[in-house]
Amino acid sequence: MSRLANRLHDVIIVGGGNAALTAAVAAHDAGARVLVLEKAPEALRGGNSRFTGGMFRTIYQGVADIRRLVPLTDEEAALVDVGRYSPDDFFQDLRRVTGGQADPELGRTMIDHSLPTLEWMRDMGVRWEFTDLWAVRDGDVLRFTPGAVVRSIEKGIGLIDMLYETVEQRGIDVAYETKMVRLLQDARGRVVGVVAKDREGIVELPAAAVVLASGGFQANPEMRVQYLGPKWSTVKVRGTRFDTGDGHRAALEIGAQPYGHWAGCHATPIDAAGPPFGVLKIHNKTNRLSYLYCLMVNVEGRRFVDEGEDFGAYTYAKTGEAILSQPQGIAVQIFDQKTVHLLEERYQTATPVVADTVEDLAERLHIDPATLRRTVDEFNAACPRGRRFDPAARDGVATSGVEPSKSNWALPLDKPPYVAYSVTGGITFTFGGVKIDRFAQVLDTEDQPIPGLYATGEIAGGFFYFNYPGGAGLTRGAVFGRIAGLHATGAALPA
Ligand SMILES: Cc1cc2nc3c(=O)[nH]c(=O)nc-3n(C[C@H](O)[C@H](O)[C@H](O)COP(=O)(O)OP(=O)(O)OC[C@H]3O[C@@H](n4cnc5c(N)ncnc54)[C@H](O)[C@@H]3O)c2cc1C
Repeated sequence: MSRLANRLHDVIIVGGGNAALTAAVAAHDAGARVLVLEKAPEALRGGNSRFTGGMFRTIYQGVADIRRLVPLTDEEAALVDVGRYSPDDFFQDLRRVTGGQADPELGRTMIDHSLPTLEWMRDMGVRWEFTDLWAVRDGDVLRFTPGAVVRSIEKGIGLIDMLYETVEQRGIDVAYETKMVRLLQDARGRVVGVVAKDREGIVELPAAAVVLASGGFQANPEMRVQYLGPKWSTVKVRGTRFDTGDGHRAALEIGAQPYGHWAGCHATPIDAAGPPFGVLKIHNKTNRLSYLYCLMVNVEGRRFVDEGEDFGAYTYAKTGEAILSQPQGIAVQIFDQKTVHLLEERYQTATPVVADTVEDLAERLHIDPATLRRTVDEFNAACPRGRRFDPAARDGVATSGVEPSKSNWALPLDKPPYVAYSVTGGITFTFGGVKIDRFAQVLDTEDQPIPGLYATGEIAGGFFYFNYPGGAGLTRGAVFGRIAGLHATGAALPA
């Protein structure tokens, strides 16, 4: 630290994930001397971003735009159906899943800059490929959920490797095991650096601008209980243990405006036996996202959600909370032989409970057999007959006369052996943050910019409420990372 404390930096970036590193590259390339502070040790660097599936939601006119990111021969291009994903499609998805509450100006900025930002990342060395997450094979053709098409090579691990390689090639200073503890201000209220702590002690690091990219507060049980509620006290954390809301606290302390859904978070169905925090070796393999094609019950043997409400990309982020709200915070996903082939590969990391009858399955799962039998019978009777099941489209094969209904993919559960996986809700990231404007500048409680302070990524509020369109987290971080890096440099080095 002393080595770095003696160097002059124009811009300090707090954090070491996708949002931080894109900000660091943008600031460096705009001419700033940049210092990145990463709280984690080098071996654990990269925040939640490293645990991701690497999927970035983006707009595109058609496969030609995707080919600018993912090199394809004409033959290969003919075997994928990506559809089209216009800025209005993305905007409508964002507003629909957030109950109309996503900030329109911030949302439009993220959307309009999505494809150009992915191309900018390509130019700096990030390589892209197709994501298999919500793609469904239809004969020879792979059909994608529009918008959810590309990911970084080797998912989040590859993303973070490629971004650090870029940062290191540019000679940008990175201080590991160094955490920002508070922000420094001058007499006029301008942010002029940070107080940081490392193994050697506490030091003041001056800079003309600071970018907060320190993630959410999902790994902080005290803040989870305070803002999300008591049921989140002991939840499993899907990603890094280092996102403890430090940036939120430091920014609020100097008058930043709290913004967005502070009581909300992204939480998904994960293996009930998963570890308490993300483990890099396991990565994101604990996810259990094929529930669209199952019947999901709680430990009392009762259904509690519309498993087929929409594509997984639009329901997975809120289904974790629905599970956590059940007795013991546990549920079971039950498949039969008509759908079990649709399970994504990650299910192979668990050993399912398999049985030839519903009653036997219930016994093995410690669920009352009579209740589960009734649930299955009622559900089966409510399923339509003779409709075409299409796992790749919202097929409208819906139940009638059962609560909750299943709006798509409602096949009766009647072809044993039955295959069951126990799941819980795992927290991914929190939605509440500080208010930024479209230049990534942090605003105070009177909606005025706090000079010298910028924010990007999970710490920026106002994008997601109640739910989230899959892949928008990384896109937000990179779009506003680039913007924050540029504008922080503009503030640090005025023309
Ligand atoms: C398992 C999993 C899979 C996911 N998959 C996807 C996906 O495919 N697509 C998608 O869009 N989103 C996905 N997400 C969500 C995604 O991780 C986040 O939206 C995104 O990575 C947030 O990036 P960030 O840079 O804001 O935060 P992070 O990547 O979490 O980075 C925050 C950084 O700040 C550091 N830090 C914290 N406090 C301090 C401090 N006081 N001082 C210095 N440094 C500090 C941390 O160590 C960390 O390096 C997934 C999340 C998880 C957990």
